[in-house]
Amino acid sequence: MKTTFERFDMKKAPIPTRFYLRPLTWVLSIPDTLKHQTIIRRHGTEGLKPPYVLLCNHNAFLDFKVATRAIYPHRANYVVAIDGFIGREWLLREVGCICKRKFTNDLTLVRQLRQVVKNGDIAAIYPEARYSLCGTTAVLPASLGKLCKLLGVPVVTLICHGHHVNSPFWNLHDRGVKPTEADFTLLYTAEELKEASADEINDRLVQAFQYDDHAWQKERGIRITYPRRAEGLQKVLYQCPACGREYRMASEETRLFCRECGKRWELTELGELRAENGETEFSHIPDWYEWERANVRREVAEGRYSTGELPVTVDSLPNAKRFIRLGEGTLIHDMNGFTVRGTDVDGDPFEMLKPVPSLYSCHIEYEYLGKHGDCVDLNTLEDTWYIYPHDCDFSVTKMALATEELYFAYREKIGRPCKPGLA
Ligand SMILES: [Zn+2]
Repeated sequence: MKTTFERFDMKKAPIPTRFYLRPLTWVLSIPDTLKHQTIIRRHGTEGLKPPYVLLCNHNAFLDFKVATRAIYPHRANYVVAIDGFIGREWLLREVGCICKRKFTNDLTLVRQLRQVVKNGDIAAIYPEARYSLCGTTAVLPASLGKLCKLLGVPVVTLICHGHHVNSPFWNLHDRGVKPTEADFTLLYTAEELKEASADEINDRLVQAFQYDDHAWQKERGIRITYPRRAEGLQKVLYQCPACGREYRMASEETRLFCRECGKRWELTELGELRAENGETEFSHIPDWYEWERANVRREVAEGRYSTGELPVTVDSLPNAKRFIRLGEGTLIHDMNGFTVRGTDVDGDPFEMLKPVPSLYSCHIEYEYLGKHGDCVDLNTLEDTWYIYPHDCDFSVTKMALATEELYFAYREKIGRPCKPGLA
């Protein structure tokens, strides 16, 4: 491309939230937690003072609001993906957010987090690095244990419950779930941290991060009466367990159905699936999702995973101002990882390769901003590409699952298998 764009300055030091903006963060956060009657349970965090590291699970924007209330009256610096900065860089900088590009190894980030701790503030991280697709734990980076040791301050987790079922990633409509819950737990004091190895810390974090929002909903007997509650569910459940076909699932109001074989399921008020005719293959949404993952794993194990060549539109985000249309191209996701190639508006070629070892997971979007459709988000340290397949059969969910399964298989192959829940 002939035009060069100003790049986002990732190295700018984080600042403590400006004093005049702190009431604003409260005003923006507290009312929503009251609306959802959020219950915050404290485990060893009563009277805890910063600095500390705060590790949170990630299901919806409400996560930030509950965190703001849990740490009140203290302030935090949040690690936020550049996508979240679009058009509001000034504000996010002023409230102390730290910008990162998703799933990149960024040494600058470590330096910035050390600065936060030195400022005496809370370093808030969402280590799953993406919204959960069906309300269960996503894989955590194995670098986390080491990072905690390096920062040398208490390690605290904030695990929220109900945020996914309230506003699932595949259909963000707020279902008014209440009460939602959060566990605010001191995992390690600074002294205990010195004694623990990075591996031990990782094991405890994986344990602390176990959650299942659908199971939580059932246990609590929380009913969701939203009449269009199943709409969008086919984004996650893209494969029919009755006939096995992919990309033929659809939804309407409270029903999920397969356009290939015609099988239909109802999503009950308690969030369970029930077949209208015949056997209910999976009543629990995460079980269906894990079945899809197992199918992808088999394709990877047999060396035959490939999306084929998909036509795509590529948008680039060099800075936090706005997306720039890069151009049309093709995407292949296969045993070699991601290959994106195309020609930009000036007729120059563009290319991004993401080989399997370079990516343990990836961020996807469903119906991005309600007008662009589904996309895969791939990053280098300098750029973020939103890649939109069009006019073909595909599922970005399957690509996300395949990214993880390809990575796990690669680690097996080199004799350094990933531990469960870590990558
Ligand atoms: Zn079917």
